[in-house]
Amino acid sequence: MQLFGWPADIDAPQRIGERLQGVLFDIDRTLYDDDEYAHGQITALIARFARQFDEEPASAHRRIKEWQRTWSETNAGARQSLGNTFASLGVPIETSVRWREAIIEPEKHLQHDQRLRRAMELIRTRGSRPDAPRLPLVVVTNNPVSTGMRSLAALGVDDLVDKVVGLDTTMRSKPDAAPFRAALDRVGCDAASVVCVGDRYDVDIAPALALGIGGVLVDGVTDVYQLPALFGFNAPGDRSDRTAGATGA
Ligand SMILES: [Mg+2]
Repeated sequence: MQLFGWPADIDAPQRIGERLQGVLFDIDRTLYDDDEYAHGQITALIARFARQFDEEPASAHRRIKEWQRTWSETNAGARQSLGNTFASLGVPIETSVRWREAIIEPEKHLQHDQRLRRAMELIRTRGSRPDAPRLPLVVVTNNPVSTGMRSLAALGVDDLVDKVVGLDTTMRSKPDAAPFRAALDRVGCDAASVVCVGDRYDVDIAPALALGIGGVLVDGVTDVYQLPALFGFNAPGDRSDRTAGATGA
């Protein structure tokens, strides 16, 4: 887990917590670790893309990879999302939204996660402080809003999230700035008081930093369990202020 974009003097968890006014979360490989499911979404979408162009999936996959490699070379090594790649290759975002709604089935792969729920509750309540205003939690996903909601429901945390910003909210896919701006609008505070939590630096962290939002790069949900400690939001009676090895950057 690595913290980006916040000055070194704010490393102390209590001070991070005092400054926080909102937290943005990615979903896939951030709120769950099922690589098979995350990768399966991509495989299924590429198969649907191949069918659209009457092409073998392996051929379509090569064509997509080649386009992404060229794009990366001309964009300082950054990576392009699948949704934006499809759009560049002739599949409008609106079509991607319909495909994803039809193909992706979170309920078949995800289960309630009590540790995730506990961590998000502690963040939302700033460590179960009854007097503290609730911290807005906004999910920013490259799947449609309905798919994101289904994923959150399958994980048992949908009631803890204030808003889902999805592909169909702005018709733009991370790392475009538009979904992050939509999330900031919902949080309703200065970008410098918000952090974005995600597993991909190019897609979740770099575009957030460009808007002045802080970033927490995680290696899956196990790191998310440690976020209350990173933010100084431990439960009453829990004196631990471990930061789970987080480092400023
Ligand atoms: Mg992700």
